[in-house]
Amino acid sequence: MEQFTRRNFNSLFTKGVVGSTLMGSVPLAKGFYAGQETNKLGIALVGLGSYSTYQLAPSLQDTQYCYLAGIITGTRAKEAEWQEKYKIPKKNTYNYENFDSIANNPDIDIVYVVLPNSMHADFCIRAAKAGKHVICEKPMAVSVEECEAIISACKKEKVRLGVGYRMQSDPYTKEIKKYVEEKTFGDVLFVSSDAGYISKGNPDQWRLNKSLSGGGALMNMGVYAIQTSIYGTGHNPISVSAQEFSTRPDYFKQTDETITAQFEFPDGIIGHMMTSHNANGNRLKSHCSDGWFELDPAHSYGPISGKTSNGNVISFPHQRQQALQMDDFAKHILMGTPNVAPGEMGKRDMIIVEAIYKSIAEGGKKQSLDLGRMGIVS
Ligand code: NAD
Repeated sequence: MEQFTRRNFNSLFTKGVVGSTLMGSVPLAKGFYAGQETNKLGIALVGLGSYSTYQLAPSLQDTQYCYLAGIITGTRAKEAEWQEKYKIPKKNTYNYENFDSIANNPDIDIVYVVLPNSMHADFCIRAAKAGKHVICEKPMAVSVEECEAIISACKKEKVRLGVGYRMQSDPYTKEIKKYVEEKTFGDVLFVSSDAGYISKGNPDQWRLNKSLSGGGALMNMGVYAIQTSIYGTGHNPISVSAQEFSTRPDYFKQTDETITAQFEFPDGIIGHMMTSHNANGNRLKSHCSDGWFELDPAHSYGPISGKTSNGNVISFPHQRQQALQMDDFAKHILMGTPNVAPGEMGKRDMIIVEAIYKSIAEGGKKQSLDLGRMGIVS
């Protein structure tokens, strides 16, 4: 019964047979969770490191449209611990080697890849081939080429793809997008974005290993500054020039420590971003023709905080961004709502990342970008 209901539902949805009848409403029960009929989608987390442990799994206790159904881990000891803590059946527990057999598991609708960056493409493509919808953590991959491979695998297998850009589901981000769209403070003229922290941890961590991370501060935190620059103006940049700074080369042996970049956007808007593994930064400020708006902090787990030139404080009740994000993706699958962080958004950011690295390699030379509206979701 369980198998029939879930598989039938997914395959019908993928073929678009039931999609239109679900628009705006939750489908009828499609399976069983903890012995109860459920219409929630089952998520399996791949990689049970700190983000899965302290953010995603706890957030999945707050979600309405999805739940923690399975785990994929390379660490034997974590299996029993997670099975017990989150009531995950043994049959929904995988390792990296037997992962592909997840294709036969009707409990798992979505695979969420939470591994070091260089492993994203392989596991996202394997998940798509297993017929599962995919959420890929940020940065989407370590190159534009890998992003494209993930996108085409998901298209080919007719599964949905989302990037783990939790801020796209956050109410503060939505408020900023509204100011930009409605010109609440006039035309945006200049945006400033910072995203960084001081890294002091284990020098052998994967984030400092270029073959696993793909790069340093820019790959890890820079994508937030790129994202805030874009939703703080409402446009993709048309050019970028960048500089790199290094003060602790003994620690940052392979990866970038601090990068600054200047953007040109359409309509003469300009932007400046800073990202670092050696300086704190967590801010977005847009200066407009009739005032300004600011988030500080702009992209931590919350609560986020904001203010505007008219003296208003931007304030929303705190909710786990990750719960909002995973529910948004589940609703996209179940009800046909917009995908707020599609693969094209992750690919666009990687195009900008590569242009920034190229500018640095060419002594700060301006790089033209031809992105149109790629990845912009209003
Ligand atoms: P982590 O180091 O805490 O966990 C990494 C996991 O990958 C561990 O379970 C580890 O065992 C596993 N792993 C498998 N092969 C590995 C290898 N060769 N080397 C190292 N680890 C290996 O990292 P994390 O902070 O959980 O980050 C994982 C992903 O999530 C990254 O892509 C990161 O950018 C992303 N992330 C996103 C957010 C966000 O706010 N969206 C926050 C933190 C991390």
